[in-house]
Amino acid sequence: MKSLLKKITDKIYYLPAEEETDRPILAAVVGENKTLLIDAGNSAAHANLFLAELNKMGLPRPDFVVLTHWHWDHIFGLDAIDALSIANQKTQEKIAELKTYEWTEVALDQRVSDKIEIPFCAEMMKKEYENLTDIKIVSADIIFNKKITIDLGGVSCIIENIGGDHAADSNLIYVEEEKIIFLGDCLAPDLYADKWTYTIAKLIPMLARIESYDFEINVESHWKPVRRKEFLSEARDLRQIAKLVKNKEKDIEMIKAELAKKLNRKLTADDHEMIKYFLNGLE
Ligand SMILES: [Zn+2]
Repeated sequence: MKSLLKKITDKIYYLPAEEETDRPILAAVVGENKTLLIDAGNSAAHANLFLAELNKMGLPRPDFVVLTHWHWDHIFGLDAIDALSIANQKTQEKIAELKTYEWTEVALDQRVSDKIEIPFCAEMMKKEYENLTDIKIVSADIIFNKKITIDLGGVSCIIENIGGDHAADSNLIYVEEEKIIFLGDCLAPDLYADKWTYTIAKLIPMLARIESYDFEINVESHWKPVRRKEFLSEARDLRQIAKLVKNKEKDIEMIKAELAKKLNRKLTADDHEMIKYFLNGLE
């Protein structure tokens, strides 16, 4: 039977993201002594699918699972994974908050009305779960602050809380020997703000922090592994937009014209979105 897993290197495997119910990439870093999973998935079903696929490939059962950030699609599968879980202090605090919520359709809809939850996540949760009451939220076992290194034997993972607009608790996971970096959703805008937002003060230093790691491939949770070159070009565009937004303030047409000139190409729908996020961030 064909495996759903994809291999990045001999030591790193992943289950691709799925848009249908907003499942992020789940990855496994296999060391000589220990195996670490990256993210727990959006449900027990998602986590169990990944575990079954690892088993099919003859890969070891996980010893650790690290959470990239607190959003539901990355943590709801945690209870199904028999491994020590790792999270930073901020993630653990958000999990504690989620544990106080009632997980029923009525309660979830109420949280959307109260602007505690966003419609997109609520809709995806309802798609992923036949019964929301099946949601079981558990805390992590190992809590760190800024940074922690996990030695898996022959391969080690640096986990660093880099924050950003999307979630203050966002971690990157750098697999040193393999030169692969997992970025979670840290490059995405803040989806919980009234308008989707990028703030220059958060995004630009974060890009420099990511670039300081000597990676060849980077993995964003809802995308696919891409080469460093692509990351650098995206980072360059983001910096350019940030600079223009800072100088021109709210004149969107001027920003667009200048950007096309600077990048020497026609702007894409993505470019337009990013300009909007930065402008929202000025408000
Ligand atoms: Zn997220």
